[in-house]
Amino acid sequence: MSGPSSRLQAQVERDALKMQTHPLCGSVSIPPDNRSFFITILSAQREGRTCLPARMGLSASDFHELLQCLPPEVTGVSRFHVCSEDDLRQELLDLRRDEWEDLRDLLMAHRSHQCATETWMADVVAAGCLGGDHLWRDLGLKHRAELRDLLMQNFAPLAMRNTQDMKWKRFFYKQLCDQEGSYVCRAPSCEQCVAYDDCFGRED
Ligand code: SF4
Repeated sequence: MSGPSSRLQAQVERDALKMQTHPLCGSVSIPPDNRSFFITILSAQREGRTCLPARMGLSASDFHELLQCLPPEVTGVSRFHVCSEDDLRQELLDLRRDEWEDLRDLLMAHRSHQCATETWMADVVAAGCLGGDHLWRDLGLKHRAELRDLLMQNFAPLAMRNTQDMKWKRFFYKQLCDQEGSYVCRAPSCEQCVAYDDCFGRED
């Protein structure tokens, strides 16, 4: 799925996002829900409670633009708590960039089209999927319900397809698996799969 066309599409989305700026300050306009999600995730990242690198999966320019849109008490703290572990996480993300792009493209293909910052959120959620814990924890959210709200807000067509309440990371990889057959599933059906408990059930 990754390739020149998806990268071109992503660039088009970013250009569109930059067009949606606040008329007075020139910053990208973020609706309240996403603003709150970004503040929660950035604060948690700086407190070491996520799997995310310092820029949370965003490019340097996009991360800089995001910081312009958030309150100084959050972005001020963010300048001082970047540690070597964050560099390592960025290196790991770079090593798995194809996988990150597949996840990001999946999210972008099912975005809600309510807000340009869905583009940033796709980058961040895709980076969270590369961690080893439940996705809501790897993003530093308070609980699984908050993750569902975030996904419904930004990627509703995709989130609504999780009718069996699969664990979210597994659900995303299952979508990639159904498309390309390369990530998760080794069994012909979930009912016959030894990994069933890894994909379904409680996530707390
Ligand atoms: S239970 Fe098995 S077949 Fe079903 S999604 Fe998980 S890994 Fe794939």
